[in-house]
Amino acid sequence: MARTYNGIRELRADTVTINDWGGSSMAAAEQYPKKCMGRTDRTFSQGLQCQQINSVMALLSMEDAAFVVHSPLGCAGCCSMANDWFRVGQIHRGSFALKNARVLVSNLDERDIVHGGEAKLREALHLAWERYTPKLIFVFTSCASGIIADDVDAISTEVNDELPYTKIIPIHCEGFKSKVCASGYDAAFLAITKYVLADEPRGETIPGLLNLFAPPTVSYMDQLEIERILGAIGIETNYIPFYSSLEKIQKLSRAQGSTAICKVFADEFMKELEDRYGIPYSHTIMPIGTRNTDRWLRGVAQIMDKEAEAEVYIARERETCLPLVEDLRAKLTGKRVFICGGTGRSFAAAALIDDFGMKLVGMETPTYDDEAQPDVEKLNRIHGDFVLDVANMMPFEQVNLLKKLKPDVFIGVPVWAARLGLPTTHVLDIKRPTMGYRNLVYLGSKIAAQIENPGYNVKIAAHAHLPYKESWYESDAFKFIQ
Ligand code: SF4
Repeated sequence: MARTYNGIRELRADTVTINDWGGSSMAAAEQYPKKCMGRTDRTFSQGLQCQQINSVMALLSMEDAAFVVHSPLGCAGCCSMANDWFRVGQIHRGSFALKNARVLVSNLDERDIVHGGEAKLREALHLAWERYTPKLIFVFTSCASGIIADDVDAISTEVNDELPYTKIIPIHCEGFKSKVCASGYDAAFLAITKYVLADEPRGETIPGLLNLFAPPTVSYMDQLEIERILGAIGIETNYIPFYSSLEKIQKLSRAQGSTAICKVFADEFMKELEDRYGIPYSHTIMPIGTRNTDRWLRGVAQIMDKEAEAEVYIARERETCLPLVEDLRAKLTGKRVFICGGTGRSFAAAALIDDFGMKLVGMETPTYDDEAQPDVEKLNRIHGDFVLDVANMMPFEQVNLLKKLKPDVFIGVPVWAARLGLPTTHVLDIKRPTMGYRNLVYLGSKIAAQIENPGYNVKIAAHAHLPYKESWYESDAFKFIQ
């Protein structure tokens, strides 16, 4: 029977996805396979990343496209962040004439919620065409358009017939559909499958061509490092979808293999490419840290018939990189770390810190599923037991844990930890390098520098206060998970 996937990660038949859980990592690794982690939920929640923004971010830098967000104005708020990333990416790629992303919002209001917003969607689509004449127009749905049941697909098809030389692609990313924000990436790829690939016969395979799927959080320095590594063993990349184009999407079917930089990005889409075109894929781990990069590269080499070349290359890179890692190890061994990041990057970063002899004491990750289980088992073997918080944006739990665990350094989105005066650094930041062999040294140096001089965060802590009472810090961080 053909595999079907509707884009909602919680509903995948082959895995259980946990969004709300807290406790010991050893307990998690023991309970998950027995299906004992349970369908828990939070009775208090501070916020949740909406899947719509993930759909938007994944595609916003496509050069020959315009974007219509069919929603009230507020839903499009995060587009300004995605646009910032788009502009930074242009600077890193050497552009001086910076462009803004071509985004329109249909601006649904109370009257539209009663009478329907279809007229506004038509108007926005025509306006996008008049202003930009793009090859592609992506339409992003929202909770509001979904609840009032605007027929976005039918309108897109109708308007498409009126507009020459363009393809309108509706993306069903209503925020209420999923608590797993990575579902937003899936919604974007499902739409690409339905509206672009469905019309495309498989082209002739280009030997040595690899579809390289990367989420928008991958910096240009990381893109260059990964392309350098793959180029060194004779692999050419079709880098999708950041700064890509319709032409690159149309090339997807001609690749010899596919891989992703992140474990929760394009994983379902790569299965679709295998089902549809027989293109094999590698899905291992993020290439962060020496061992993860080795493992990631070996996985790619296997599907691209480059195993011998990869082994020679890995040995050479290790020879160059390991002495530098050793220097950093002298400064970082024994330091206690708390990590907060997306599913793929938090696990990869937790393995990476072992390169420097650091110890994981706590981790916040948005989801726990079949993919996470072997990673947590591996981390338990490396670091022993640590506190695991399965949470999508719950800063109140994070600061409670940080106060109790008192790590030497916090790795991840630093907003809250910095207010506690902890040394902080990024992992996988659009503006800085993280991946591959060379960027590992950059990241390690950054961690060491932060620990050596946390003065900036100490000053922030002296002047910026967190909004919690002392009694909260004495409470169980997971008391609202039931
Ligand atoms: S689509 Fe829904 S969840 Fe997403 S920003 Fe709009 S209202 Fe919020």
